[in-house]
Amino acid sequence: MIVKIENGLAEQGDALGLKGASLCEMARLGLNVPPGFIIPTQACREFYERGRSISGELLEEIKQNLAELEAKTGRAYGGGERPLLLSVRSGAAIPMPGMMDTLLNLGMTPGALQAITAETGDPRFAYDCYCRFIRMYGQIVLGVGNREFEQALEIQFDRANAHSPADLDASQLRRLSETYISVVNRIKNRVIPSDPLEQIKKAVEAVFLSWNSPRARVYRNLRRVPETAGTAVVVQAMTYGNRDANSAAGTASTRDPIYGVNRLFVEYLMNSQGEEIREGMRAPKSAAELKEEMPGVYDGLAAAAEALEKARRAVQEIEFTVESGKLYLLQTRPADCTTQATIKSSADMADEGLITREEAILKVEPESLQQILHRYIDPNVQVRNLVRGVAVSPGAASGIVAFSAQEVLSLKEQHKESILVRPDARIEDAEGVEAASGILLSKGSRTSHTAVAARRMGKPCVAGCAGMMIDLENKKFTVGSKTVKAGDVITIDGGTGRVFSGTVPMVESTISEEFNRLLAWADESRTLRVFANADTPEDTLRAVEFGAEGIGLCRTEAMFMAGDRLPIMQTLILADDEAEQKRMLTKLQKIQREDFIEIFRNIKGRPVIFRLLDPPLHEFIPDLEPLMNDVYDMRAQFASGEAAALKEVLLRKVLSHREVNPMLGLRGVRLGILRPEIVTMQISAVFEAACEVADQGIPVKPGILIPLVSHVNELKRVRGVIDETARKVMEKNGKEISYKVGVLIEVPRAALTAGELALHADFFSFGTNDLTQTTFGLSRDDSEHKFLLNYLNQRILDENPFQTLDPEGVGRLIRIAVEDGRNAKPDIMLGLCGEHGADPVTIRFCHNIGIDYVSCSPYQVPIARLAAAQAKILENEKV
Ligand code: ADP
Ligand code: MG
Ligand code: MG
Repeated sequence: MIVKIENGLAEQGDALGLKGASLCEMARLGLNVPPGFIIPTQACREFYERGRSISGELLEEIKQNLAELEAKTGRAYGGGERPLLLSVRSGAAIPMPGMMDTLLNLGMTPGALQAITAETGDPRFAYDCYCRFIRMYGQIVLGVGNREFEQALEIQFDRANAHSPADLDASQLRRLSETYISVVNRIKNRVIPSDPLEQIKKAVEAVFLSWNSPRARVYRNLRRVPETAGTAVVVQAMTYGNRDANSAAGTASTRDPIYGVNRLFVEYLMNSQGEEIREGMRAPKSAAELKEEMPGVYDGLAAAAEALEKARRAVQEIEFTVESGKLYLLQTRPADCTTQATIKSSADMADEGLITREEAILKVEPESLQQILHRYIDPNVQVRNLVRGVAVSPGAASGIVAFSAQEVLSLKEQHKESILVRPDARIEDAEGVEAASGILLSKGSRTSHTAVAARRMGKPCVAGCAGMMIDLENKKFTVGSKTVKAGDVITIDGGTGRVFSGTVPMVESTISEEFNRLLAWADESRTLRVFANADTPEDTLRAVEFGAEGIGLCRTEAMFMAGDRLPIMQTLILADDEAEQKRMLTKLQKIQREDFIEIFRNIKGRPVIFRLLDPPLHEFIPDLEPLMNDVYDMRAQFASGEAAALKEVLLRKVLSHREVNPMLGLRGVRLGILRPEIVTMQISAVFEAACEVADQGIPVKPGILIPLVSHVNELKRVRGVIDETARKVMEKNGKEISYKVGVLIEVPRAALTAGELALHADFFSFGTNDLTQTTFGLSRDDSEHKFLLNYLNQRILDENPFQTLDPEGVGRLIRIAVEDGRNAKPDIMLGLCGEHGADPVTIRFCHNIGIDYVSCSPYQVPIARLAAAQAKILENEKV
């Protein structure tokens, strides 16, 4: 079952874990990897099946492999004159960095301690390993708390006037080891086994058990990773980054993980071991310093970086150790890059010929683009920093200061944004990290676990703020003389590391050169067209800027909602006499025409689809409650006169328009049938605008979309009004403009009768927001922040159907409509608008069933362009 590192293959990630497989791959590439062997994930599953016990066979195999490792290294595990020490490392088939346990310096018995001292002549080194071993074994195998050891360490520091273990000499370390041992004995009433075989058995068990540790489970649950896979165990000869003044431990990225520049990025600590660098106790050194201090090591690392990028076709994050000037590689995995860095490195790697353009397109997660299309702090505004730390995850965020995950979550419940402030976030803060708008850590570096997690989530994060003192007990932090308390608002900029009190003006981001290059490749690949939903001339400009090929949905009512226009609309709806109505219609027509002219100009010849007035009328009329209160007050005071009478009339009218269920009431096409003059007004405005803009030599391509159709007769009737009005306007202007009339498919009956509808429509647009509501029979407003959450938690539903299109129900209706519509009219144009329009899964669905375009908000257009290209590239692969 056990596989030696030199025999394993890169592709065996499922069996050997990603870490194990990466070691095998590096060994095959001829890179210097400490020898060892891997206990596969299968053994972990058996461990649990056997009720958490290691089988005799596995133990035998481990002994066998240990013997071979001893022979290969010329050392004896845990004894002899030249002791072999081991690392025992966890590693699953899915990335779970820092979630499970690793033990170092195993085999460190009192005998080995003496032998190592004799062999190296360096008691300080021997005791350093000994202390590290006791502490790790105590914590991981015996379950002694971190705090107990920290306290013991603090006492030693005080005595020795030291700040880091690196400052302690041999005798101080010896005393520390004694204190550590007594901590273990006192707390757990246990001793550390002096039998090295017992140590390795317990260590392997501990790694298996760490698969089920609470933090690993929380992590998997957040990412919906299966519980059964298990972890592999890597057993490897130790290399000592704490050996001497020419030794170090660190991490490297083959490219800069924040901006993506093609330059080796290194963080390391001299004379250190393991993950000290991630603990942020000492400030790490950089690539430039490594080049200076150990040029040979730097060159070796650069060569390894090149070989690994070439073999793995991705930016790598490498863990390495230098022992007395010799470089050892301990792990490689795809680097956690910011979106910005992923875009730049992918585009660059394609240009460098390392990967194809298609591979570059596939590397960028479309949804991750959200973060670079995000705001940052306005560089033109001069604001004083409260404090400045390390920029570890870009983007700016303002929020209420919270010192714990619970505080973050309770603020979120109140729909308030928060910044999680901690010395260094621990795993139990994971939920808080996910829910906060930004993270501020007083300790830590770019490679601390939280920084890595924040980058992956695209969450602004600042770490390592020297001079910031956090007082968790009293829920406040101080910087110099300034104090910030829980509940205060701060702003952080994860791109520069700056922290401010209060809110700071921000600006929206723009699209970088590399991003445009990548999007241009995406546009070449994709066949699905991408339109934008844009309601105003300004939205239209933004849509064009982000690469929309047209406007797929222009909700004309948005124009009525605006300040000075609402009263006109209200009067129109509530007016009794026709003359008054007519006057209002004329006013509205003029306003709409002006807007449409600007939209046509801004869209520069691309198609624009205008939707007829859609929302329920009550959205335009005054709110009932305040009106009622006014009237009651007036009645109570026996008020009379014209004002009072008008209020009474208004109340009666508002009441008469009241609907029990407005979402299913008089709206959409129904309104057009009852009040055709509104349709006439809107269509006149569209075509007057179109004629005028066409006259200026700018091509126009209008489309009209009829909402909420459920019966073909509705379509026929309203289409009649549209065609007649359009003809009249065009004749009057002596112009011929070609246009399309389409149906918004947003109730099941429309989808089910699409064959009939197609005969009277030039296009369909699937309005998936309403189609989801009407298919599930649930109101989004009443469910999404209420029982739907419960449904998702209980996994009654796997996805929120308002975010990702429900493939079996809503998707089935769309398939039926696509098929029947195409059968009835082969060249009918098919599109999808609604919030699903930029969801990558939905886009893949649309591409695969032959939909022609999707329409989404302007900011999401780049996301949809990329997702559409990925859908095309992956079209022959099963989802
Ligand atoms: P994680 O899954 O958290 O990355 P690892 O198994 O990579 O944990 O171990 C953490 C650290 O322990 C490594 O980054 C490395 O510094 C140190 N380490 C692991 N194996 C060895 C080894 N054979 N020699 C020296 N250090 C090691
Ligand atoms: Mg590691
Ligand atoms: Mg609708």
